Amino acid sequence: MTKQSYDVVVIGGGHAGCEAAAASARIGVNTALFTHKIETIGEMSCNPAIGGLGKGHLVREIDALDGVMGVVADKSGIQFRLLNRSRGPAVQGPRTQSDRALYKKHMQKILLNYKNLTVVADPVIKFLFDENENKVIGFVCQSGNEIRCKELILTTGTFLNGLIHIGDTQTPAGRFDEKSSTGLSEQLAKYDIKIGRLKTGTPPRLDGDTINYDGLEMQPADEDPYYFSFLTNKLHNKQIKCGMTYTNDAVHKIIADNISKSAMYSGNIKGVGPRYCPAIEDKIVKFKEKEQHQIFLEPEGLKDNTIYPNGISTSLPEDIQLQILANIKGLEQVKMKRAGYAIEYDYVDPRELKATLETKKIKSLFLAGQINGTTGYEEAAAQGLVAGANAALKIKREKEFLLDRSNSYIGVMVDDLITKGVSEPYRMFTSRAEYRLTLRADNADQRLAVLGIKNNLVRSYRKNIFLDKQKKLSLLTNSLKSNFISPNEAKKFDIKIAMDGVKRSGLEVIGQRNVNMSKIRQVFPSIPLYEPSLDKQVEIDAHYLGYLSRQSNDIKSFKKDEAINIPNDIKYDSLSGLSNEIKSKLKKIRPLTLGQALRIDGVTPAAAIIILSHLKRSKSKNSA
Ligand code: FAD
Repeated sequence: MTKQSYDVVVIGGGHAGCEAAAASARIGVNTALFTHKIETIGEMSCNPAIGGLGKGHLVREIDALDGVMGVVADKSGIQFRLLNRSRGPAVQGPRTQSDRALYKKHMQKILLNYKNLTVVADPVIKFLFDENENKVIGFVCQSGNEIRCKELILTTGTFLNGLIHIGDTQTPAGRFDEKSSTGLSEQLAKYDIKIGRLKTGTPPRLDGDTINYDGLEMQPADEDPYYFSFLTNKLHNKQIKCGMTYTNDAVHKIIADNISKSAMYSGNIKGVGPRYCPAIEDKIVKFKEKEQHQIFLEPEGLKDNTIYPNGISTSLPEDIQLQILANIKGLEQVKMKRAGYAIEYDYVDPRELKATLETKKIKSLFLAGQINGTTGYEEAAAQGLVAGANAALKIKREKEFLLDRSNSYIGVMVDDLITKGVSEPYRMFTSRAEYRLTLRADNADQRLAVLGIKNNLVRSYRKNIFLDKQKKLSLLTNSLKSNFISPNEAKKFDIKIAMDGVKRSGLEVIGQRNVNMSKIRQVFPSIPLYEPSLDKQVEIDAHYLGYLSRQSNDIKSFKKDEAINIPNDIKYDSLSGLSNEIKSKLKKIRPLTLGQALRIDGVTPAAAIIILSHLKRSKSKNSA
């Protein structure tokens, strides 16, 4: 048995684990990642795609903080599409189909060569605690090796007591053909950490060579791809098309006739599944009026003929899955490579966590990813980054890295999780963010890179690229601000502004409909010309200028409540006027700020005033 020690150890090589390990290592502490196998690092357990509405924003934010997901998604992308392209940039979602094998390959290559990071293939079977301190101090691996660490980040995804269901067959597993992790949740529960069960599912995998694409609609990639990383400027792979097909009456009847055989409806599954990503059984039962449901036939890779039929996740028995497929247009002769399944797993109530993602009850234990009740690669990776950064900053005794609702989707997600908990697997949507005009995918670096640089999360070459971009953007903006045009002159260029005799600056003109930077340069030839992406950024910023000044007032009042800190040792029981229900919620969640307290379900503005007066009284007592 060998004994080794690290500053920060990350358990799990999934999306949360990769990002956590990379963030911690970037900050410059001695980091290790322990996982089952090197070959499954960066595995896409379910759909071969990154991004989407809200999720794409998370990836851009990760990239702005020099994370790995955006770069890897760009290197493995085989069908880039900007969702909601016809709507405003605030709600557009970058997405790509990924080549599953390439995604893993690039992630592994990056992590195995990451400075300050050691990667070890040896699963963890037991935590080691200092019981007097309520602190995790290390763990034991399957090999028998005992590892010590100062901070530990657990990112075990769907593996904790994972149980796969296909019809009435149940198999303990963390993912298809991979062993579940047992015993770890039980150790956490001993520290009174609240553990629950959730469920997710995946569709069958198909042999693409046996699909008849004749007569199916085909969806191509965008001609001008929108990348995830601010560093990417070219396509790395050939772009593919996805086929589209639909369920029909015959399919719905097969499902309805066999519904009791589905693990979800037979009573075998206790965990709650994602409402926004329902199994096909759920769609048939809950949306009876719908005559068909869309299925995207997504290739899993350029050299892999496996097709992921997005939209028919199921836990029906294998023979019923085959009957369903045989009744779908294009799939009449399809060969099923692997049956779809549902998986139930343990998760930790995220209200057990601080905003740094460290648990409140066990010191030095951080949790990130699916284990916190979320679903999705992007949600997992974003949490990994937060946990990794904070674990490393704790080692360095530096200030915590905290994002909030006004500066990022990551901040929205962490606040939602730790304040409200989850009743079903949590996934990101643009509608969760109240300041979404500010929190756009295009400006993620403008919002976050400076914070990342301040916390040493952004390495120097990235920092230089960002600072160069900022310099050019400010030259462009200043030049727009200092050039003016009268309404009469504008008319000559076919630019419509009110004929009021008032001269407008280039910045005001660019905010007008149908005016872009090339038009502006016809008017003001002295405006500098840099990369096209900078012109685009200026155009979008100008478009949102008016809305943003309105939103900035809301953000200011949000910040005011967020700036009122609530001490961790506040005695809620001694505050008269608070109901017992509110007291118990406040004691459980222990909000860090008045703003967070107000976002807890059931905490009224009146309760916030009682807390505020108490804080003011304590402050004046202390300063007296
Ligand atoms: P994972 O990606 O699961 O990674 C966990 C990592 O921990 C793995 O590397 C594993 O080897 C490692 N590990 C586990 N136990 C140990 C241990 N004891 N010691 C060392 N290492 C360990 N998301 C969606 O958005 N939509 C969906 O429809 C969807 N469906 C899904 C269906 C299935 C069947 C599964 C399994 C997942 C699905 N997901 C879906 C979820 C998506 O896969 C996860 O959200 C995402 O992978 C979570 O990332 P993670 O890093 O938290 O965990």
